[in-house]
Amino acid sequence: MNTPEFSSLALKPALLDNIAALGYTHPTPIQAESLPHILEGNDVIAQAKTGSGKTAAFGIGLLSRLDVGNFKVQAMIICPTRELADQVCKEIRQLARFTHNIKVLALCGGVPVAPQRDSLLHGAHVVVGTPGRLQEHLQKHSLHLEHLKVLVLDEADRMLDMGFADIITDVVSHAPSHRQTLLFSATYSDPIRKLSLSFQFKPVSISIDTSHHHNQMEQHFHRADPGKRLHALAYLLAYHRPESTLVFCNTKRECQDVADSLANCGFSVQALHGDLEQKDRDQVLVRFANKSCSVLVATDVAARGLDIKDMQAVINYELPWDPEVYVHRIGRCGRAGNKGLALSLCADAELDRVKAIEDYLNISADWDDIAPFKLSYE
Ligand code: ADP
Ligand code: MG
Repeated sequence: MNTPEFSSLALKPALLDNIAALGYTHPTPIQAESLPHILEGNDVIAQAKTGSGKTAAFGIGLLSRLDVGNFKVQAMIICPTRELADQVCKEIRQLARFTHNIKVLALCGGVPVAPQRDSLLHGAHVVVGTPGRLQEHLQKHSLHLEHLKVLVLDEADRMLDMGFADIITDVVSHAPSHRQTLLFSATYSDPIRKLSLSFQFKPVSISIDTSHHHNQMEQHFHRADPGKRLHALAYLLAYHRPESTLVFCNTKRECQDVADSLANCGFSVQALHGDLEQKDRDQVLVRFANKSCSVLVATDVAARGLDIKDMQAVINYELPWDPEVYVHRIGRCGRAGNKGLALSLCADAELDRVKAIEDYLNISADWDDIAPFKLSYE
């Protein structure tokens, strides 16, 4: 799949320029898949993990649909927390910079109501708020939704977890039934489906899971027989100098050995595997998170469910047998829009694993040579 360009979407030129000015060169997968439907005016239910660029997906969508001359609330975004609402508000304002006249207002709890009421009196095109405060404004008639075109439920799963279902239902009941409803969630559960059924009309369903993520990555494969693997790994670390790297081994034993050897070569490295005590594991993760160690050598089991993301590189010290495991591993790196680096070492005897990955991902492996390299302790 080729990554589409923002310019292939029907967006106002000024908005396109602004997107470029923000440094967004390509749409993220969730943006690429959802924006065409959002711009068509369809209801969309989208599932994608955090950091995948959901805000700009609905932000670009709703900004494109605003009638700037009509100084009424035309888009409303409901967020679970004040922090998230503030963040979304900030991003929408940035995206809206292409025209000076768009007013985006935050309506969150925890701050006085009166200034918000005054701001609403002066008019706003977009409101971003938390459920309770939006409900309060609606009940007190300081917020009117007669002109609402787009309703966004952001992080809907979290809002349900926080017990906001009834308040949201009440808030949405004030919105015109003839509207576009966009529902974003990191998970896709029965309660979310129910929410969608009650608020949406023939929604387009979009799910971006890690198996799509490989499109965003730079993947290279390197031949290295077992005796040369450590050299190859040290070479790749020294060559690419990633700020943070997750190295995957297939066994606990190898995991510890590789970490010890890299430490001997002077790398700041930690091992993470099931034989470590919980407190040691916690300590390893803290050191990795605060960047006092830049290489984490882990087994699949130890890395599962950990909130370690935004890795610059993932290296397969040994390839997994199952291509799905490969996809999970490399899904650990690459920020929204930025390419992650996935490097894999492969012995001649393991070429069938590369073949399985090629088939599974429908890619053809890019092989790179490893230059002769001397380890510092040799
Ligand atoms: P989500 O809501 O899915 O958790 P966000 O919308 O907060 O993610 O986006 C995460 C980060 O990615 C933000 O810092 C945002 O500015 C950035 N971002 C969004 N879209 C792009 C893009 N197309 N290219 C580069 N960065 C992007
Ligand atoms: Mg978000």
